[in-house]
Amino acid sequence: MATYVIGFPRIGEQRELKKALEAYWSGKISQDELKQTASDLRKRHWTYQKNAGIDMISVNDFSFYDNMLDMTVMLNAVPEKYKDIDNCMDRYFAMARGDANHKAMEMTKWFNTNYHYIVPELDIDMDFKANIDKIVLEYNEAKELGIEPKVNLIGPITYVKLSKIVNGDEKAIIEKLVPVYKEIIAKLKELNPNVTIQMDEPYFVTNPTKEDLELLEKVYNELASDANIYVATYFEHSNEANEVLAKTPIKGMFLDFVHGSENSIKALVDAGKEVGIGIVNGRNVWVNDIEKSAAFVKGLTEAVESDKVHVGSSCSLLHVPYTLKYETKMDEDIKSWISYALEKLDEIRVINKLVKNEELSEYDKEVLEGNKIAIATRKTSSKIHDPIVQDRVSNLTEKDKHRSMPFEERIKLQHENLKYPILPTTTIGSFPQTPELRKLRRDFKNGLISEEDYKAQIKEMIKDLVKFQEEIGLDVLVHGEFERNDMVEYFGEQLNGVAFSQNGWVQSYGSRCVKPPLIYGDVSRPKDMTVEWITYAQSLTEKPMKGMLTGPVTMLNWSFVRDDQPKRTTAYQMAIAIRDEVEALEAAGIKVIQVDEAALREGYPLRNEKRAEYEDWAITSFRITTSSVKPETQIHTHMCYSEFSDIMDAIEDMDADVISIENARSDNSLLKIFKERGYKGEIGPGVYDIHSPRIPSKEEIVEQIEAILEVLPAEKVWINPDCGLKTRKWEEVKPSLKNMVDATIEVRKKL
Ligand code: GLN
Ligand code: ZN
Repeated sequence: MATYVIGFPRIGEQRELKKALEAYWSGKISQDELKQTASDLRKRHWTYQKNAGIDMISVNDFSFYDNMLDMTVMLNAVPEKYKDIDNCMDRYFAMARGDANHKAMEMTKWFNTNYHYIVPELDIDMDFKANIDKIVLEYNEAKELGIEPKVNLIGPITYVKLSKIVNGDEKAIIEKLVPVYKEIIAKLKELNPNVTIQMDEPYFVTNPTKEDLELLEKVYNELASDANIYVATYFEHSNEANEVLAKTPIKGMFLDFVHGSENSIKALVDAGKEVGIGIVNGRNVWVNDIEKSAAFVKGLTEAVESDKVHVGSSCSLLHVPYTLKYETKMDEDIKSWISYALEKLDEIRVINKLVKNEELSEYDKEVLEGNKIAIATRKTSSKIHDPIVQDRVSNLTEKDKHRSMPFEERIKLQHENLKYPILPTTTIGSFPQTPELRKLRRDFKNGLISEEDYKAQIKEMIKDLVKFQEEIGLDVLVHGEFERNDMVEYFGEQLNGVAFSQNGWVQSYGSRCVKPPLIYGDVSRPKDMTVEWITYAQSLTEKPMKGMLTGPVTMLNWSFVRDDQPKRTTAYQMAIAIRDEVEALEAAGIKVIQVDEAALREGYPLRNEKRAEYEDWAITSFRITTSSVKPETQIHTHMCYSEFSDIMDAIEDMDADVISIENARSDNSLLKIFKERGYKGEIGPGVYDIHSPRIPSKEEIVEQIEAILEVLPAEKVWINPDCGLKTRKWEEVKPSLKNMVDATIEVRKKL
């Protein structure tokens, strides 16, 4: 054994699994056909790995929906409410996505990735028992291909720590699950007495407590007593766990040396354990510097017997796209600088051979040669390096990071300038994206209609929307974002230094995939991006029109970001590019500008000690974008979540004039946090839940506003819905917003 991958993507290089799943859900194919597609895909993926010389190939990294959900089934931790469904596949999908009679289980982000898992709902009284049919099937399939696979499982501690506990306590549930895991292991050993098991315990990269570590030792003393267990951690270092696990009978650990370069292997090595050095990045697409990585691994493992050193991916390759094979339109240079999952397999193999001084094949030599050229050209290419952009970043001063007047003073000027009433009403920006609108944009992109035609039609929609907003009496209007397909892509497509792939799909949840932009070079804004639309909208009304932009941190957090300079530098470049747009809007007469930072929260590091550094560059970037405007220009920001308790310092530091937040589904406890802190800015808490097609009545919005006013003073409150109007239908949006404005008018009368 020598090379490994933590896991391989399963959705298919042309999203075959996505298509099959959706066909099955809509009744177009049978369960057997879906299973056949899955089986074909697994075989194809194993064959790729085998041919690439990967020694430890996983089974059970496949899933029809999610691996955490698979674990739930495997442990018989299925919540009672799904037990009435007999067919196990139907039950599985009911848990994953709901059905006519069942609500889906909750879904949330897997650590700091954009992958979402189905949150287990655990009850200590559940009848936990082992069911490994899924693994047996996959194991036998792999065997047929001549592969002796490693079996991936999510370890008991991570599984429970990431769950919602409905009844019982965490520790007791973990202890109750250990025998079930032992049962699973025993069954796996029936397949092969020497079976290799990978237990994923990424929970341990997030500042574990003393109790967590004691539990870890106890659990793995039991589980590993007579099995070949490798514990995998990823996305950060897991040094506390590494030391503890060294004392248990595990075989070794797979560690992330890309995002956890602080990982120490000393304790493990001293205890005679094997170590997996995850040096090929499973989270980003840039080519690995093969020689540099080989030298690093060599240095790190000098004192370790070579058969105890494995080279692999930093985490599952699930988080990167499949193969460059289908990128036929990408710039050849850019293409040479990236590797997707398949190309990463070659990197792993060649690094391993260099580390072990094994002879390179002709093909290996080609890979290495190509790699050296890519690394060299990337350092100097004029497609990447733009001295003007670099100068602008190095010339940033403190002044660029601060508004010219403190909030308390400038807000007065803004009130004079904008003359909005108490409890001003607005929306978060987007309006319904209808099938006709999507078709219009597609037709334009495909050259089926002229630019002139396209613009005229979008402007017609803007005109209707302005008219509607005026009719119902909103105070600060928006243009509706009809020209945007996606809040990051729209800007990415117009910026220098950002590229788009054709087939760079990454699974986000279930059958859903996203195609993140590639920030490959110095970022700049060659020309106006939104000014034409927004000034057109403003020309139709006397009311203030809010200019709508995506913030620098969100641009970065939803992209593949270059790894050849600090993230901070890229963020500052992005911040300056968007600032250019802010200034252009202001110069064109726009008085209110909203800079959305939807993804600020999810970019937080997993380790507490790294939070300050992130906040520093992230918040500074936002301030660079928004600080150069006149004091009377009002800056809004928007964040679509309701968890702020641990990031309030950062939020305050952003120094926005108005922040809109998601609130309709929470109980105003969020607002209490803003109040207790004495948050200085104005706040727009969402007053109705747009996630449901239901139209809220005027009365219930009145109630909601009054509840908000019990916490916050009316002078600070804006009235708006939560974000996401673009996902709704006009028939839902129009009456809802009218009720919102009417409700506000009623509350104002009582003030
Ligand atoms: N302005 C964007 C919209 O209304 C914000 C989207 C978001 O925050 N997710 O769609
Ligand atoms: Zn939002």
